Amino acid sequence: MDDQTTWANAVAAASRLYADLAVGTRAELDALIDRIMRLKEELLERTISADSASICRSCGGQCCLNGKYHFSLLDLLAYRKAAVEPVVPNFAASPACPYAGEAGCLMAPGFRPMTCVVFNCGLIEDRMTPAELTELYACERMLRRAIADAGQVVGQRLDRALLLSIGS
Ligand code: SF4
Ligand code: SF4
Repeated sequence: MDDQTTWANAVAAASRLYADLAVGTRAELDALIDRIMRLKEELLERTISADSASICRSCGGQCCLNGKYHFSLLDLLAYRKAAVEPVVPNFAASPACPYAGEAGCLMAPGFRPMTCVVFNCGLIEDRMTPAELTELYACERMLRRAIADAGQVVGQRLDRALLLSIGS
């Protein structure tokens, strides 16, 4: 099955999963998705002091190559919860990330996959103080915990690579 068909199937599956949740379960998941999105935003904000935006721009987003496997079912559920149409991937851009455009990532920080927001290369981490790094890693642990909790609420892991785990 090609990536575009797998993606379309996954979008439909995420929609069904979300719609079929019991009201109480959906409320629990919604609260966790809110927390997850806030933590993702916080993680990116914490790298600003290291001038990450300008460093990543100069680098050209090397760590975004092959980023298509970063996207998970949970990321689609976040769009569903927000009642926002998901990002439109361009799989023909391979090996560039299908979720990127000429100006960089097409997703707002809160919607980006976990792998994208927790990874910082040495160019960034070397410019952060030990105290800043300690806080960054604590934030990452909270994010991973909230994502695991979301999976428990729904009764299945939500953080697997979408294009590898759905219909391929
Ligand atoms: S984190 Fe590092 S490798 Fe990734 S885009 Fe930024 S500078 Fe480049
Ligand atoms: S989703 Fe965005 S941040 Fe993640 S790899 Fe693709 S372009 Fe980079």
